[in-house]
Amino acid sequence: MFKALVVADNDGSLDVSVRDVDETELPEGDVVVDVEFSTVNYKDGLAVVHGKPVVRSFPMVPGIDLAGTVSTSESERWAVGDRVLLNGFGVGEGHWGGFGQKARVKGEWLLEVPDAFTTAQTMAIGTAGYTAMLCVQALEDQGLAPADGDILVTGAAGGVGSVAIALLAARGFRVIASTGRPEESEYLTVLGAAELIDRTELGEPGRPLGKERWAGAVDAVGSHTLANVLASTSYGGTVAACGLAQGPDLAATVMPFIIRGVTLVGIDSVMAPRSRRERAWAALAAELDPATLESMVETIALSEVPGVAARILEGAVRGRIVVDLNR
Ligand code: NDP
Repeated sequence: MFKALVVADNDGSLDVSVRDVDETELPEGDVVVDVEFSTVNYKDGLAVVHGKPVVRSFPMVPGIDLAGTVSTSESERWAVGDRVLLNGFGVGEGHWGGFGQKARVKGEWLLEVPDAFTTAQTMAIGTAGYTAMLCVQALEDQGLAPADGDILVTGAAGGVGSVAIALLAARGFRVIASTGRPEESEYLTVLGAAELIDRTELGEPGRPLGKERWAGAVDAVGSHTLANVLASTSYGGTVAACGLAQGPDLAATVMPFIIRGVTLVGIDSVMAPRSRRERAWAALAAELDPATLESMVETIALSEVPGVAARILEGAVRGRIVVDLNR
């Protein structure tokens, strides 16, 4: 038996509880992981509070990422005792995920924990941090360099935003942080933000083109914010879009693209190919200062997940939340 947070659908009403689960109930897979840490990402908030549409079958153990040690393996790739991590692939949505002390998954979904990190540190980064690196690498792949100008990060005090600020600042970019929480100005400055703007500046319908304010952006917010971010991106700039904290809509015009040659790059972490994941995690291991990472993290027990899940949907979580499965 092991402990897991289970989301069940009782005739249309959602039942969320921490309970003992028998190992025989685990879904199909060729590797069993003793999960040490998972995290609460925005999508986990949606899964725990609303169930559908993030949860695609019930009962579900949510948790879109996990890190731990292989306890049994029928996969040629993995042996008992290997330290592994997992992001996405529908885990915590259609396949039981990280909010349980054991997970049975496909070996091809797993990555080795980089030597530079403990399993706890990989989950301090988690899917939000790995997605932040995918965004930063997308800007880099478009040729953006610090000399090109400022980079905007929206949803700055959240998980993706916090890690993106730290990564960009470490690479020498001047970072502008857009936030709705001025009380977090010291936190954002310590992470590396050089300037803060109020997110309401970007949150309402705006003009098709505005003053050129940044050479690029990491956008975790979508909706009017993304439209306004594009409208104020300077000539030849790039915006990496990964989130929808304000909404999934995008009421923009083509003007930034056809007048300023702006590039909009979509970022998906869930089905990203292995080569891209390995590149992102290698760069995280090389670039992310452990002390900076520590400053973004709060660690909780499984029983605290439902409360934090509600808070993350309200935009009230700062940085990253790690779930310690043995606490
Ligand atoms: P968080 O909740 O930690 O951060 C989101 C931040 O967005 C909040 O902290 C807040 O920042 C801001 N925000 C919240 N609500 C609004 C609003 N109504 N209008 C404007 N800003 C708002 O979530 P994550 O960082 O984990 O995820 C961010 C987004 O990225 C989510 O939409 C998530 O689904 C998406 N995502 C996508 C992935 C992919 O593969 N494409 C992978 C990971 C995440 P502040 O208080 O500073 O304003």
